[in-house]
Amino acid sequence: MALKNSKSVHYFNADDGASHQRRLTITRRLEQALIDNQLSLYYQPKQHLQNGQVRSCECLLRWIDNGEFISPGEFIPIAERSGLILLLGEWVLDSAFKQVKHWYSEGREVQVAINISARQFLQPGFTESIERRLKEYQVPPSLIELELTETSIMDNHQLASEVLVELRKLGVSLSIDDFGTGYSSLAYLSAFPVDKVKIDRSFVSQMVDAPKQQAIVLTICQLAHNLGLQVIAEGVETDSQRELLHQYGCDYLQGYLFARPAPASEVSVLFN
Ligand code: C2E
Ligand code: CA
Ligand code: CA
Ligand code: CA
Repeated sequence: MALKNSKSVHYFNADDGASHQRRLTITRRLEQALIDNQLSLYYQPKQHLQNGQVRSCECLLRWIDNGEFISPGEFIPIAERSGLILLLGEWVLDSAFKQVKHWYSEGREVQVAINISARQFLQPGFTESIERRLKEYQVPPSLIELELTETSIMDNHQLASEVLVELRKLGVSLSIDDFGTGYSSLAYLSAFPVDKVKIDRSFVSQMVDAPKQQAIVLTICQLAHNLGLQVIAEGVETDSQRELLHQYGCDYLQGYLFARPAPASEVSVLFN
């Protein structure tokens, strides 16, 4: 399947030569990295802002190709275009479930949030694939969170909302990632059965000096709470940001200020 997908190179013709070549190289190497098991997951803990507890984290893909670190910000969009994201997504799900099971067996109930790309989420059988893993790995559904970007939900809101309803029935937690960056109608937010929204880093990083970004963050916190949703701020790097978010009643903080993404063995000690 992956090989077949990687042949659809004519698709990239409109782009300039250099980036076109880069995409081809990345697609080919990424396919190989999957086969050779050269990918890993890092985990970035989230802290509850009001009570300080640390019981959840987000898993983030890491790929070092022959000593070169390649950012998921670069290879994920390429994998989405080639279709390789489907295989990659399966790998991420299995690795994350394995880790949740491992922590659970040590007596740590750590909720792990997994990034799901639009293509993966809207693929027929996605809900069943989650259901199957819940049975296979024997982990409580509440320890699994799926992060879906705002655009992947809004671009196909009819189908997305049906899938979300089915996922919700399984008992997994659902969050909207990069909230505020798309063109979502606020009315949709109330219509989707999600548990949390993640305020995009672009708002958080500017909020201390930019009154408008600050107003957006405050408004998202209030709106989410009025709808019964929890709020996570991503990319929190400074004490002043933390201070404001605390004032706004934001529920969780994620960012370099508290912890950077790291291998599971290194972050384990942070969970209390
Ligand atoms: P995202 O889901 O918005 O993830 C947050 C990104 O912000 C991560 O970048 C994380 O390392 C980074 N970050 C966290 N705290 C801070 C901070 O305080 N300051 C700054 N400057 N950055 C911070 P990363 O790991 O490079 O991932 C980039 C994007 O790649 C993710 O954005 C996500 O969209 C995608 N991605 C990563 N792993 C996966 C995956 O397993 N599956 C899918 N579909 N996408 C993934
Ligand atoms: Ca995310
Ligand atoms: Ca995000
Ligand atoms: Ca983001």
